[in-house]
Amino acid sequence: MPRKILVTSALPYANGSIHLGHLVEYIQTDIWVRFQNMQADTTCHYVCADDTHGTPIMLRAEKEGITPEQLIARVAQEHQADFKAFHVQFDNYGSTHSAETREFSETIYKRLRGAGLIEKRSIEQYYDPVKQMFLPDRFIKGECPKCGAKDQYGDNCEACGAAYAPTELKNPYSAVSGAKPELRDSDHYFFKLSDPRCQQFLRDWTTKGTLQPEAANKMQEWLGSGDENKLSDWDISRDAPYFGFKIPGTEDKYFYVWLDAPIGYMGSFKQLCNKQTPPSLPLSGEEPPTPSPDKGRAGEGLGFDDYWKQGSGAELYHFIGKDILYFHALFWPAMLENAGFRTPTKLFAHGFLTVNGEKMSKSRGTFITAKSYTDHIKNTEYLRYYYAAKLNGTMEDIDLNLEDFVAKVNSDLIGKYINIASRCAKFITEIFSGKLSDNRNWYPRLAIQPNTEDDIFQKLTTQAPFIVEYYENRQYGKAVSAIMHMANMANVFLDFRKPWVLAKNIEDSEIREELHHVCTIGINVFRLLTIYLAPILPNLSSRVARELFGMERDFVWGDIKAFSQQISPYQHLMTRLDPKLIEAMVADNQETLQPTPQAHSQQRHAAHQQHEAKKEVALAEKDFEPFISIDDFMKIDLRVAKIVNAEHVEGAEKLLKLTLDIGEEKPRTVFAGIKSAYDPEKLKGRMTVMVANLAPRKMKFGLSEGMVLAASGDAPGLFILSPDDGAQPGMRVK
Ligand SMILES: [Zn+2]
Repeated sequence: MPRKILVTSALPYANGSIHLGHLVEYIQTDIWVRFQNMQADTTCHYVCADDTHGTPIMLRAEKEGITPEQLIARVAQEHQADFKAFHVQFDNYGSTHSAETREFSETIYKRLRGAGLIEKRSIEQYYDPVKQMFLPDRFIKGECPKCGAKDQYGDNCEACGAAYAPTELKNPYSAVSGAKPELRDSDHYFFKLSDPRCQQFLRDWTTKGTLQPEAANKMQEWLGSGDENKLSDWDISRDAPYFGFKIPGTEDKYFYVWLDAPIGYMGSFKQLCNKQTPPSLPLSGEEPPTPSPDKGRAGEGLGFDDYWKQGSGAELYHFIGKDILYFHALFWPAMLENAGFRTPTKLFAHGFLTVNGEKMSKSRGTFITAKSYTDHIKNTEYLRYYYAAKLNGTMEDIDLNLEDFVAKVNSDLIGKYINIASRCAKFITEIFSGKLSDNRNWYPRLAIQPNTEDDIFQKLTTQAPFIVEYYENRQYGKAVSAIMHMANMANVFLDFRKPWVLAKNIEDSEIREELHHVCTIGINVFRLLTIYLAPILPNLSSRVARELFGMERDFVWGDIKAFSQQISPYQHLMTRLDPKLIEAMVADNQETLQPTPQAHSQQRHAAHQQHEAKKEVALAEKDFEPFISIDDFMKIDLRVAKIVNAEHVEGAEKLLKLTLDIGEEKPRTVFAGIKSAYDPEKLKGRMTVMVANLAPRKMKFGLSEGMVLAASGDAPGLFILSPDDGAQPGMRVK
């Protein structure tokens, strides 16, 4: 049976940039879709859209002095450029602010209302009298009712983790205007998730293999057991002013952004169908879309109902982060079921990204945007490969360890995989004019190991069913390690056969023939591994197919059995990843306490050093804010440091080079403008205090990795600080 599959990734919110955390999802979805589309008899469509509605979009547009439509148009362009750079290939990328999504939102709402599952209720909610709007939970701040922490959001406390209603906050204020909010009544519309029909349906739906086991367990917690009814009704309306779709039959009520976000999957797919089969009547106010055969089967058309009607044989998969499981495993299927649409075949939830073992952080420079990655590193397939190597189809978090990232790319991709081609291709080109050997009688003589009869190429093709299974089950990590194991075997084979030695003795016709066969096998193994890696490395594999093997299309899975006859001269395929690029990227993303961003050109200034010294002073004398919050202060990582070494810097008038131990593996180097006041010899062994999270700064004499604190004033002199006896290197000062 041919498979018809529709796949989605969660819709990114049109309020910010795509970062490496988001990409965990889009890359893993794209790999899966590409894998499916390499299979014969499988058609897999991949749609997504920007999630564009809600108060944050409305307020941000207002702040920028533009309309929400202008804001979301700009962000849509940024998002799509980022996805393209990472080879995430959607068949359609839409917006929830579309005629199609509006139509489905209204249809679903009306059908739910028809089924008696919509209820109007008056609720009490905080209202901002200055801004004249009801405030979403995240826009109300105040003191935590549990621990008293200040400036906490209306839904939970970041200090103690308590969850509460916004009305429980002490001394609440509006985060929009600062005004004290008032409680006001307003009519809201609810989707009756507590209705026995929804309960019964969800109990069944969440336990029939639609969810990963850990997600299904979570659902049982939320659903409760037996006759317990733990689900509450879902508030699906928001009051004007709001950026979204007006609820039919009302004047000032809008669909809550989370109602139309998943409906955006349908809207985007409908746009794809329209592109392939233009509707006879254009949707009101929209230009009729031009048909574009961007996915195979041009002219055949794509039927919306084939994928979305109840009982459809097509498969529907949503890739999502574990944080939005609640919306996708409860509200979404219950809405679809009761509005007469099909429900998802499966949800694939994944964990979050950590960088170097910790939450992504702006102060550590690990909150990295897609754009920043491409600006610094350019090759996005490195990251696709690294993520693939870490993904296992579960909800566990994955870690991007930046050192490991460099090591893995260089040792696996370059050292093992690309190495196979670069060891063989040049001999085929130079000695055999690009022609590969077709004498298969040679294979048994080219065993992987001495005294065995295995033909390495044949042996590696037999691994294909395992690779297929790993991809299908989203266990990309297993696929990658199996493929790298094969690359190892190929390199062992080449080490054993030594084509570079054979190439020196080709006047002997027997050796010449052996060289031809060894390199032919090597090149065909490289081709095979390229096909196995193609879902992960779409750009590289396309280049290999077209440039090296002269094909006019990309590889498909069926190509694994073919044995190539001819290659074109080998073009350089991939460069080693330089760790300096990572350092520069992290430094660039680090939010510093420096008031002005440093212009790089200044570093080349002749009076550079003097300038640096002046800037230190300028910094110190900068006008202070009357008050800063404790949060501002806590951003400064002050540490007790032991001066393990201090020395003069040749050519520097004011600086001493300090080596500081703050309990880390390696001591820090800091250039400090204290030469006028201290003899370096007398500083050695002393304790002082340093700013440990100041962004590293490249100076004429080297990299300065922090700052020591010193006091100065109108009276002459400069005085570094000392902690009391007993303080140990690395202790935090706060
Ligand atoms: Zn608290």
